[in-house]
Amino acid sequence: MGDTNTSSGAGTAGPASQTGADHSAGNSADKLHRRGLLFILSSPSGAGKTTLSRMLLKADAEIRLSVSATTRPPRPGEVHGEDYYFVSDAEFDRMVEEDDFYEWAHVFDHRYGTPKGAIREGLKNGQDYLFDIDWQGTQQLKQKDDQDVVTVFVLPPSLDELRRRLEGRGQDTDAVIDARMDRARAEISHWAEYKYVVVNDDVEQCFAKVREILHAERMLRKRQTGMIPFVRELME
Ligand code: ADP
Ligand code: 5GP
Repeated sequence: MGDTNTSSGAGTAGPASQTGADHSAGNSADKLHRRGLLFILSSPSGAGKTTLSRMLLKADAEIRLSVSATTRPPRPGEVHGEDYYFVSDAEFDRMVEEDDFYEWAHVFDHRYGTPKGAIREGLKNGQDYLFDIDWQGTQQLKQKDDQDVVTVFVLPPSLDELRRRLEGRGQDTDAVIDARMDRARAEISHWAEYKYVVVNDDVEQCFAKVREILHAERMLRKRQTGMIPFVRELME
């Protein structure tokens, strides 16, 4: 999905990226510079992380999607550069050799990875990035950059409902759905590695919780880098 990280807009200042220097010109403290964050949504396949991700991207202009590269073939309707960068095995090998990935993993017989692109530069400029990745990718991202990472695990209300959602999505064969269901328990077993956990029963209620998490994390003191000159001036 849309990473923009490697190709476009990387490092462009997000809406939150005004400098802390001009607060004296009548700007509110809301506009002080802050460091961006890496917002990770993980779940067993079918629990709703793509749905929640799309809602978040639509509702919040300060976060953009990190688009992964994958060796999986595109599903109907998926667009190269928006949903994924669809690459050959040879191309993926080359990217691994050239250390182009923040993290990568084998999932369902294919490889998936997060191109580093300009994520690091974007973070400095106040850009937030959304990641729809599994527990393996989450662990690797945490190892590389724990301070910027915010992790949220999305649980289905039940395994029966998870199967209904996978079937209702209409994208996978019965065999693939069986494989995803077999894998669901193993994926759920990683829930305790996440800082936040939400149950996606009613999608609107779940989405509201996800937004509250994002809003609160943006206000962490350590992320509000523009606060330092602001407070210094208050105390002068
Ligand atoms: P994931 O990205 O975790 O694999 P999706 O977001 O593709 O899951 O959701 C799987 C299916 O379940 C989709 O058809 C989606 O519309 C549906 N869905 C997502 N959240 C809910 C919900 N809270 N209630 C009912 N159906 C949902
Ligand atoms: P799908 O084939 O359904 O799009 O994705 C299958 C799984 O791969 C999902 O659980 C998804 O979270 C995971 N995935 C997608 N992109 C990445 C990535 O860049 N890194 C890792 N580690 N997992 C990913």
